Order: sequence, then C-alpha cells, then structure tokens
Amino acid sequence: MKITRKHFLQMSGLSLIAVVAKKLVGGSANTSASESATKKTRWGIAIDLQRCRQKEGCNRCIRACHLAHNVPEFSDRGHEIKWIWKQPFEDVFPFAQTTYTREVFATAPVLLMCNHCDDPPCQDVCPVGATWRRDDGVVMMDWHRCIGCRYCMAACPYGSRSFNWQDPRPAISAVNPDFPTRTKGVVEKCNFCEERLAKRLSPLCVEACEEKALVFGDLEQPDSEIRRTLRSRFALQRKPELGTRPSIYYLT
Ligand code: SF4
Repeated sequence: MKITRKHFLQMSGLSLIAVVAKKLVGGSANTSASESATKKTRWGIAIDLQRCRQKEGCNRCIRACHLAHNVPEFSDRGHEIKWIWKQPFEDVFPFAQTTYTREVFATAPVLLMCNHCDDPPCQDVCPVGATWRRDDGVVMMDWHRCIGCRYCMAACPYGSRSFNWQDPRPAISAVNPDFPTRTKGVVEKCNFCEERLAKRLSPLCVEACEEKALVFGDLEQPDSEIRRTLRSRFALQRKPELGTRPSIYYLT
C-alpha cells in the first residue's frame, strides 16, 4: 500500500497521541498497571482427571450440557454433534504416556470441549466473522451468520467443532425452549455456557459434576480457585506446542 504524506502525518499524530496517553495513564506507580491487569477476565476450567474417573461411566456433565443446549443425538457417528465429549487419554495426550498410563486411564476417557483458545485459529479463518473471541476469553459463534464453509473445523486442532449435515431438530430428545436450535449446514460448538455466565452462573458441566472434578474460574485472578488449583497441581493443556493457549486445563 502506498503511504501518502497525509497518511504518514495522520499515523505519526496518532502514534504520538498513543504514546502520550500511555504515559499519562501509566502514571508513576506500578499499581495502576496491576489494577488494570486484575480487571481483565479470562474464564477457564481445570478438569481433575483423578476425580473425573472416580465414577466409572459417569456422563452427567455431557448429558446436562447437551440437554440444555439442544445438541442432537444422531445414531450415525459421522454426523455426531459434540459440545462436550470423551476420548481415550492416549489420543488426547500422546506426549504424556508412560508404560502404565493405559492401565490408569483404561476405563476413564478424558473429557473434552472447546478450549476457548487465547489465540483461536478458528476465528482467524472464518470469512464472515461468525466466530470471535470475547474479552473474557469465551470463543463465540453466531449460527445465523455461519455459511457452513467449515474452514473453522479445518483450522481447529482439537476437533471441537461439529457440522450439521442434516436438520438437527428431529434428533433432539427434548427441546429446551430457552435455547436456540440450529439448522442444517451450520457449524456449532461449546459456548462456555455464555448464557449462564451472563447470569453470573458457572457453566452447566461444572455444576452437574457431583465429584466436583471441574474447577471453573477467572484465570486472570491470582486468588481465584482455578489459579490456586493450578498452582498446587501439575496440569496439562492440549497441544501446547501450537501456541493457541487453551483455557481448559487437565489436572493429572
Ligand atoms: Fe476455536 Fe478449536 Fe480453540 Fe475452540 S478449541 S477456540 S473451536 S480453535
């Protein structure tokens, strides 16, 4: 792009204003910086794999989520819609294997959902802006805007998005009238229960777990339960080498 003299002067002026504003806002004390840092929010969940495998075959969190969000249950696995689901440990964390890991997790697949990545590749590839990251870290979707191109599905390294190959409504066991249903040709995924967050409630999967295996909270708050938990327990994130910075942690 050719930069004209007028553009250059405009850009220089804006940069100068930004620098001066930063200095004024920054002030003399570090306290203002730490105050603004603590005002940020980034929701996250830490999943305790030990607690999660206490009750073999338990799927309360999945049932609660899928019922509340009108997630259809198709018998054809190729058409499966997943907001929250389970997969074998060795598939999820292939880099964290020991000789006997398989024995530990033989009957306890790992709970998965959208990671609400800090740097979500799904957002970058959507040609119509149907997916975006909110300031609180929730990666949102506008189903009305989605054109079904499925670029986001290709970009998501975690398989967290599903495509409605057919009308999902007939495959919903009991429609929740308080939550929208989707249509054929639309992508969907976990919304971090944004409708509950708006009412200052925890995500439903967290509430539904009787074993208290899911710790929800603000990752930006050093004193939050999730941050205290992550300080005291060793945790894994999925595919950290990709730099997406997931908000979902796994306590081993
Ligand atoms: Fe997007 Fe996938 Fe990350 Fe969720 S897990 S924010 S769908 S890239």
